[in-house]
Amino acid sequence: MIKYKLICKTCNISFDSWFASSGEFERLKKRKFLNCHECNSTKIEKTLMAPKLNTRSDSNKRISKYKKINDKLREYQKFIKNNFEYVGKNFAHEARSIHYKNKKNEKGIYGIASKEEIKELKEEGIDTETIPWVQDKVN
Ligand SMILES: [Zn+2]
Repeated sequence: MIKYKLICKTCNISFDSWFASSGEFERLKKRKFLNCHECNSTKIEKTLMAPKLNTRSDSNKRISKYKKINDKLREYQKFIKNNFEYVGKNFAHEARSIHYKNKKNEKGIYGIASKEEIKELKEEGIDTETIPWVQDKVN
């Protein structure tokens, strides 16, 4: 089945109609079996199909947007890697020792913390920043 938007050339009304195939439309039109609901005119034409969303370029756009964000994150990560000390899973511990012992760490720290740990740190007045971490490509 194929759906066409048809237009009456006489009264300019348009309507949708289903056909078994694109050939069927032509056959019916030739035999003047197609007529306007309104004025009964047989001057029925197919209108251009509704513009189909170009899903391919659409998803490409999404991918490039994702890539952009990804690149930004990688840039951010690179900055963090260069300027902060990686403490891994000791993050919560290290963050506390900086906070409580007023440890002067010339370098900030970054590492892994669970949601629970982040929540606890926050309750203790230690602010942390969470960023989504982009995994380096592992091949
Ligand atoms: Zn008509």
